[in-house]
Amino acid sequence: MDEEVSPDHPRATSLRIRAKLAHGFKIGITSTFGLFAHGRGEAFDYLIGEETTDNAERAIRAAAASLLLARHPVLSVNGNVAALVPLELVELAAAAEVKLEVNLYHRGGGREEAIASVLRKSGAKEILGIGESASATIPEICSDRRRVDPKGILIADTVFVPLEDGDRTEALVKLGKTVITVDLNPLSRTAQMSTITIVDNVVRAMPLLVETVKQLKDESKTALKEIVKVFSNEQNLSEAIGIINTRLTRLARQKRTSNSGEDEG
Ligand code: ATP
Ligand code: MG
Repeated sequence: MDEEVSPDHPRATSLRIRAKLAHGFKIGITSTFGLFAHGRGEAFDYLIGEETTDNAERAIRAAAASLLLARHPVLSVNGNVAALVPLELVELAAAAEVKLEVNLYHRGGGREEAIASVLRKSGAKEILGIGESASATIPEICSDRRRVDPKGILIADTVFVPLEDGDRTEALVKLGKTVITVDLNPLSRTAQMSTITIVDNVVRAMPLLVETVKQLKDESKTALKEIVKVFSNEQNLSEAIGIINTRLTRLARQKRTSNSGEDEG
């Protein structure tokens, strides 16, 4: 990676994540629009407190169980996740027997191949959705994302779409698929429409998801079904919004208290 981030910098973690994306942009895997999307995510991470909440951990557990129960799970890879968590994508694919499919808003310009190359370097064996293999079309999406692989998203019962756009999430849900996402914004259409929404930074959520899949792998189907059954996305999203609300209220109160302290002094 080009720029060294000083470990003493108060926002070193966030800057390191940015550096990964900037590198992804430079090697042609992340798009300009992907950089904007990251900025929006960062803003919500700031509000959440830049840590994985219990709320996110519950969603991660439900997502892991759901992926293990799926007959034909597919992980949809875009330029941001390929830049941020390539190793974890491949690890998850292996641990939960999920197929990897590259699916981009804007195809062409060698981006699919560049992403495939990053995934292969991270250990991926099979990668769907490259070039002509994305020969099927799903309805109601205007962008290149409508093009899917007949061996992948087209026939998937469960699609994991970290950092997704609302239009495509809606289209996948309409096709009757179980949709799992990671999205820092609990208010986005993707977060609201998905079956399971993990409100967390993909950089923190992915290693935990891989770990949880490994932990749950030997559980019975009945136990996995129970984990999915007791999870409510509505309730979890409501709580995620509440977590931001409570945190901001507390921070505002602390500000008021320290201000009145200054007055007294
Ligand atoms: P939607 O289309 O779902 O309403 P949007 O138009 O606001 O959302 P998009 O650019 O379509 O945003 O989708 C990107 C989503 O990914 C955003 O909700 C953003 O908050 C989220 N996001 C960006 N970076 C990260 C990250 N590192 N981890 C988790 N979520 C992220
Ligand atoms: Mg969008």
